[in-house]
Amino acid sequence: PPVGNGSGPAPTATAAADGDARKRTRRRRRRRVDQRVVEENIRKTLIKMESRTPKRRKRREREEVASPIADDVDPATVLKVNEFVSVAELADLLHVPATRIVQTCMELGLMVTINQRLDFDTISLICEEFGFVARREEEYAADKFQDAAEDETAHEARPPIVTVMGHVDHGKTSLLDHLRKTNVIAGESGGITQHIGAYSVETPRGRITFLDTPGHEAFTAMRARGAQVTDLVILVVAADDQVMPQTVEAIDHAKAAGVPMVVGINKIDLPAAQPLKVKQDLAQHGVLVEEFGGDVLSAEISAKTGQGVDALIEKVLLQAELLELHANPDRPAQGVVIEAELDRGMGPVATVLVTRGTLRNGDAFICGVHSGKVRAMHNEFSRAVAIAAPSTPVRVLGFSGVPQAGDTFAVLTEEREAKDISQVRQRLQREQEFRRSRKITLDEFYTQMEAGQSELRLILKGDVDGSVEALADSLEELSGDEVRVAVLHRGVGAITESDVMLAAASNAILIGFHVRPDVRAREAAAREGVDIRLYRVIYEAVEEVRKAMTGLLTPEEREVIQGTAEVRNVFKIPKIGLVAGCFVTDGTIPRSASVRVVRDGVEVYAGRIGSLRRFKDDVREVKAGFECGIGVENFQDVKVGDVLEAYTVEQHARTLSS
Ligand code: GDP
Repeated sequence: PPVGNGSGPAPTATAAADGDARKRTRRRRRRRVDQRVVEENIRKTLIKMESRTPKRRKRREREEVASPIADDVDPATVLKVNEFVSVAELADLLHVPATRIVQTCMELGLMVTINQRLDFDTISLICEEFGFVARREEEYAADKFQDAAEDETAHEARPPIVTVMGHVDHGKTSLLDHLRKTNVIAGESGGITQHIGAYSVETPRGRITFLDTPGHEAFTAMRARGAQVTDLVILVVAADDQVMPQTVEAIDHAKAAGVPMVVGINKIDLPAAQPLKVKQDLAQHGVLVEEFGGDVLSAEISAKTGQGVDALIEKVLLQAELLELHANPDRPAQGVVIEAELDRGMGPVATVLVTRGTLRNGDAFICGVHSGKVRAMHNEFSRAVAIAAPSTPVRVLGFSGVPQAGDTFAVLTEEREAKDISQVRQRLQREQEFRRSRKITLDEFYTQMEAGQSELRLILKGDVDGSVEALADSLEELSGDEVRVAVLHRGVGAITESDVMLAAASNAILIGFHVRPDVRAREAAAREGVDIRLYRVIYEAVEEVRKAMTGLLTPEEREVIQGTAEVRNVFKIPKIGLVAGCFVTDGTIPRSASVRVVRDGVEVYAGRIGSLRRFKDDVREVKAGFECGIGVENFQDVKVGDVLEAYTVEQHARTLSS
């Protein structure tokens, strides 16, 4: 299911906000008024709409969700639109002059320009004014695959789909290896030989499907794309260690996804094993195993010797039974791509995990933006199979292009139709590339709050545990009746790609306290449109979040990273001082920029570039791929391995895209 936004009653401006009114800039005040007008108009229009088509104005969700259209709607008045069509394009579709759309928007309290792209809620309001019902174009294909009757017809039990998570070196891979090796289905000797990204394990009490990629990336990457396939998480914790940062992360990921956990306390064969301590430790992190009065099942295991693994599997099945997992095998198959690649000989190949229905050779399908026809299927034993039932992973041949992990897969009766959908989706994708999918930013939070968003989700990363805790506490204390501040995850260390993916999947804002995003995290944030906020003082962070909650956030100065360089040597030069011999890894280092010294993901100094040289010459800038000497003004402690980030400060109005 998609990660829904809180849908509490729309909060109104608080008395506190009114009290601070004097301090607001004129621009701010105008915006407030506009928002009141907008709200009022939206409310009026909603009342009009609701009398006709009740559930129309559903909250926008990340997935391609169909907003149900009542039966009494004349199909001739249905307008299929791609979300984010521009005012001009919408005018074309409605056969009215663009100026009339602009005018209508003004009546609704929205100031728009002709080239402005509109979100779906606005589009449906405008369409309503012209007697049309807007329908998202994506659903043109997606609604074929989302029949509500499915649940009633899902009569056959299906195996649970399990992901193994935990801290590095706690034994995830060993556990998966052990299961893979010992899984000897009748007639198959030697266990699973081929890695296809998932495999099924046969046990006396039933089958389990394991996703064969340990760790959190796959899990969150899929969830961020709206494809949640995991039914259950095995949390591996080493008994000779303790709950570690990635253990906490795994717990948070599972909780955010609403997926139950079964704990495997691993390495029980070691003399240093202290399973009880691990359980206590887990309790401290909100995971209560049965012995501690909780309901989380756990087993003490050794992935090395195999001791206790059967008991763990038993518990996984027990937990799975509670979930009552069912599917309907008698319908066209649907599934999710687990991994995909371009094989030199065979062309695009993907492992599809069937989630509903039964997949058959020869089936025509749509998968993400690609289509195809199943030419052949292989299981994890490299054997050709003709059918794949729910919860079965199969390697599928016959794609028109290489899909992406997390893409949804659906069988259609007509090959032609699959091709058509694929074409539309490719066009949409191209169009959407023009505008980045936008997630919530702190600046916009107030606007969204007025539209019914009642939970501000945060992910915190900091340099030391104590300050992260303190910050989390202070932020959570901001929670009021109308808006709740929820810290989904907190951790120590640099902001990583995994944090960004969690933020993207949960529509959360990332807050860094004395830490920075690494390059991959920054790229991911830009790609996913995740808002990252960096602070050095707790008070500042709390103040800004508080302001966002009361709609008082003012435009502010933003840092724009120009380039990064790695320190490879350090020289002492008479009169100039310490110069860092650097290699520019990314972007450009301009002489005029400010610079930040980052050591192991933690900022140790921020100041200005004092000197920038290539060989003996002073230069204005140095591009990626070149070496240079950088002197940091008033800082004589640069070390080999440090990363220098050159940045400029710009006045930014509303968004931060790192
Ligand atoms: P991962 O990073 O979580 O995938 O951890 P690995 O499965 O790679 O295991 C890390 C190390 O712990 C390896 O050297 C394994 O051999 C070892 N290890 C894993 N499970 C056990 C176990 O049950 N007992 C012992 N003694 N060592 C184990």
